[in-house]
Amino acid sequence: GARPDEDLLAGLNPPQREAVTYRGRALLIVAGAGSGKTRVLTHRIASLLRNREAWPSQILAITFTNKAAGEMRERVEHLVGDSARGMWISTFHSACVRILRREAEQFGFTKSFTIYDSGDSRALIKRLVKEHEADAFGLTPAGVQSRISKLKNELADAESYARQANPNDPAERIFVELFGDYQRALQRANAFDFDDLIAQTVYLFRAFPHVADVYRRRFRHILVDEYQDTNHAQYALIHELTRPIAGEARQPYADSGMMIFDAPAADAPEPASLTVVGDSDQSIYAFRGADIRNITEFERDYPGAKVVLLEQNYRSTQNILSAANAVIGNNFDRKDKKLWTDVGAGEKIVGFTGYSQHDEAQFVADEVEALRRGGIDYSQMAVFYRTNSQSRALEEIFIRSAVPYRIMGGTKFYERAEIKDALAYLVAVANPADEMAVRRILNRPRRGIGDVTETAIARYAAEEGIAFRDALANASALGVGPRIQAAVAQLDAVLVEATELMLPSSGELAPPSAVAEGLQLLLGRSGYLDALRMSKDAQDEARLENLDELVAVAREFARNNPEGTVIDFLAEVALVSDADDLEDSSGSVSLMTLHTAKGLEYDAVFLTGVEEDLIPHRISAGEPGGPQEERRLFYVGITRARKRLYLSLAMTRAQFGEVSVAMPSRFLQEIPGDLVHWRQSPGDVNSRGGTQSRALNARRTGGGSGSGRYGDDLVPLPPRDRPGSIEKFANRIPAKVRDNGDMALAPGDRIRHDDFGEGRVDAVTGEGAKRVAHVRFDTAGPKKLLVKIAPIERL
Ligand code: ATP
Ligand code: MG
Repeated sequence: GARPDEDLLAGLNPPQREAVTYRGRALLIVAGAGSGKTRVLTHRIASLLRNREAWPSQILAITFTNKAAGEMRERVEHLVGDSARGMWISTFHSACVRILRREAEQFGFTKSFTIYDSGDSRALIKRLVKEHEADAFGLTPAGVQSRISKLKNELADAESYARQANPNDPAERIFVELFGDYQRALQRANAFDFDDLIAQTVYLFRAFPHVADVYRRRFRHILVDEYQDTNHAQYALIHELTRPIAGEARQPYADSGMMIFDAPAADAPEPASLTVVGDSDQSIYAFRGADIRNITEFERDYPGAKVVLLEQNYRSTQNILSAANAVIGNNFDRKDKKLWTDVGAGEKIVGFTGYSQHDEAQFVADEVEALRRGGIDYSQMAVFYRTNSQSRALEEIFIRSAVPYRIMGGTKFYERAEIKDALAYLVAVANPADEMAVRRILNRPRRGIGDVTETAIARYAAEEGIAFRDALANASALGVGPRIQAAVAQLDAVLVEATELMLPSSGELAPPSAVAEGLQLLLGRSGYLDALRMSKDAQDEARLENLDELVAVAREFARNNPEGTVIDFLAEVALVSDADDLEDSSGSVSLMTLHTAKGLEYDAVFLTGVEEDLIPHRISAGEPGGPQEERRLFYVGITRARKRLYLSLAMTRAQFGEVSVAMPSRFLQEIPGDLVHWRQSPGDVNSRGGTQSRALNARRTGGGSGSGRYGDDLVPLPPRDRPGSIEKFANRIPAKVRDNGDMALAPGDRIRHDDFGEGRVDAVTGEGAKRVAHVRFDTAGPKKLLVKIAPIERL
């Protein structure tokens, strides 16, 4: 008879079908953009359910964003109906929150832990840096935060780091102290930061194998999308979940710290099956610790793994694909794979160069309207940029041109001060141990509680050995004046009342509306809303609206999670990522950064700001492999487009209050000229804009220090005049961009190249500007480089 999943397989090509039906322990699907990787994952889940090979509760699927998780769930439910309930389809972070909620009590946290977003942890680190006077040693909060984050992604903790740190370096010693203090502060606050969510789950699994076994038994099928962007901690988490099940492992002995394991039980089930899909060419999160080796070494980590390649692209036209293939072909050290499609060449890519970013934005807005008249819905159009600050000019013009748009970047809303205040009130109720939240609301709105009182509360709490939050209940013992005592008591009363509403001491389940009502109660009784209403600041009107919006979010949450508590609500809010916008996407053009665009697709895509220093971004120049990662980001952008692709740039760009001359991105040179129709090329702009650029130069010279990023020469590169090689192109870059001058190189020297990584100089030939280094790179192999302009440094 027919397989129950027959119709699921009908819409797939042969390799896709193979990936859906393969039933071994480990499966790797590597394929270029738009080849159906995500679709294969979805169908694979549906097929397992349809064939009754798995219960929904035995499935764990990991996506990169909550939005992608929601879409995958919907698709699966659409394919198999109601029987899909109970699957875990979520991001790494959300899955770990769920696990930690159940298990936190195993290692010194409680179920009501809160999650510190990067702003929260920055605030905490700032305080610690101040306490340790660490800035004297060159340690900044931002630097410390990113180092701690990197270490956690590598599963290092303060102790393991201390063992390999240089003990004679005072800055290192302080850093180790900061790291340790930070971790202790988090634990005291009953909180995890983002990186901890994953690292601590791995820690939990490793320290308590019997706990890990529960999840190993439960999840029989684990599937991970966008595997190329997993970091080491995420890799380790998956590895823990797919290990053999130990059988009847015993509890660790409480005192000795020793564990006893029995041999695997004869009836222990097989390890879970693992399916990962990814595209090394779309790895764009190395800066956050993503490790492409997780893909390239998959077969080593999972011996006997099956590998399936997909090459047919179902998303884009051939012109768009050819451009993408040509660009990514410039990255060395990759497996060549060619995407093809049978939908035909399609329209040419459109290029446009504006005089300024406003000119560029106007072009985008006009073109959006033209496409719209041509029958493409606004919601099927997207505008991408490399950095958030680029959205300003676009927004201005879009507003003026009445183009409906929305910015993808849900986190922006949650970064607003009034929203953070409101959430801090909720945290003070949900997790009173979170002292930072309680401190935050002490004097918001202003109620006369200043630093002196704050210190008095902290001192009293320390003396009595109670939590900061609990000290509020004893206002009269703080030794402060009667007016302030009353203010403290009033705040305490509001918190107590809201707690009773949201987390009744009777143990009864609070009604679903409790979060929204509790929020209103907190903001109302605390005087927060009144303070905004009485304010003369026009901004405060908008703040009130935002708080209304937050209440609406809480109501929506209650509808979707009738049993969700305030603790669940806070976790959901903390995990909103850039791709998870609040608004409904229908009827508006989506604006987002290239990083956010991953995995998405649109009929028409505008890739803006295609300029040197933006893409590739200037910060990438100093990072090993940076320019290559930028090229992948550009590739991700191009491959989002189904039918229409626009590449635009501006000749001048105002940034950080300065106008500077922009240069076309090197990536434009990598796209075959016949694929692009230039409405206005950089060459056109240069010949017509001569006076303008002279005027600009004059202004820059007058303005003094280095506002021109390329010196005074405006060197446009008409894209139709394509140089034959990147070397020739490099020669046309004004010397100021990269001039190693007479860097003395000798055979035997070690160098680092931006693209090729580290290597050893074999020989140096030629003289002056024509000096050539013959270098054997550790991974990229032998290369010849023009010493003067190569992006190298001596090690
Ligand atoms: P990315 O690398 O960008 O994440 P992907 O490999 O995950 O892309 P999908 O998003 O799964 O690709 O698929 C791209 C588009 O092609 C989707 O619209 C999908 O529905 C469609 N598609 C994939 N496979 C097929 C197929 N066999 N028949 C028809 N359409 C398909
Ligand atoms: Mg995908």
